[in-house]
Amino acid sequence: MKPASVTIIGSGTCVPSLKRSSCAVLMELGETKLLFDSGPGTMHRLLSAGIEIFDIDFIFYSHFHPDHTGELVPLIFATKYPDGSRRNTLLTIAGGDGFLNFINKLKAVYGDWLELPNVMLRFLELDRNGPDSRHFSSFAVETMPMNHQAESLGYRITDSNGKSIVYSGDTDTTENLVSLATGADLLICESAMPDTLKVPGHLTPSLAGDMATRANVKKLVLTHLYPECDRFDIASQCRQTYQGPLVIAEDLMKIEI
Ligand SMILES: [Zn+2]
Ligand SMILES: [Zn+2]
Repeated sequence: MKPASVTIIGSGTCVPSLKRSSCAVLMELGETKLLFDSGPGTMHRLLSAGIEIFDIDFIFYSHFHPDHTGELVPLIFATKYPDGSRRNTLLTIAGGDGFLNFINKLKAVYGDWLELPNVMLRFLELDRNGPDSRHFSSFAVETMPMNHQAESLGYRITDSNGKSIVYSGDTDTTENLVSLATGADLLICESAMPDTLKVPGHLTPSLAGDMATRANVKKLVLTHLYPECDRFDIASQCRQTYQGPLVIAEDLMKIEI
């Protein structure tokens, strides 16, 4: 199987930015395409990466904040109209505790605009109360609760070559992220604000670096960057706690694993 790759679709936050679109990460495992979060602007950025929404096989949501889920409704609507035949494969959309209730509330507003045949779309709720693991044909997924919202999950994907990629979603410090990311080939970690501007519920470069060091990951990507991050040398801040390979995310950056 060809090597796994990650494309940062959106490295930003809820703040509108031409440079950093809201959160989304594309993972390509052979022919299988996984999307993590779909903030506003995701479909356009995917097109810039040469990916159509019909190419996506799985969407995993880290939590329900609009900067991570904003394009869920437009994506399903664009699968249905103007021509509902363009998707040839099943799309699985998964999230943490309360995800099915979240979907049902959206359906209460949008009705059958969000309905698609079962062979085209299924929703999956993952366990929030501890480690969960699921096996699909070309990869396995493990999740752990993160320290952000009640439903927040971090994801560890292991492909059929044994490579592992971890996505933190939004989180503050948590030992769950250290254990989920232990030995991972790549950790895509939020680093919302510079060290001096830390906000509750989010990490900073040096905190992300500390967890990456303790998890002994092989490479660290810092993402979910508020505009303040571009006014500081966040790489140097991260270097105070982490010495391994480091990438500051940019939209449409592709990383081979
Ligand atoms: Zn966020
Ligand atoms: Zn959030």
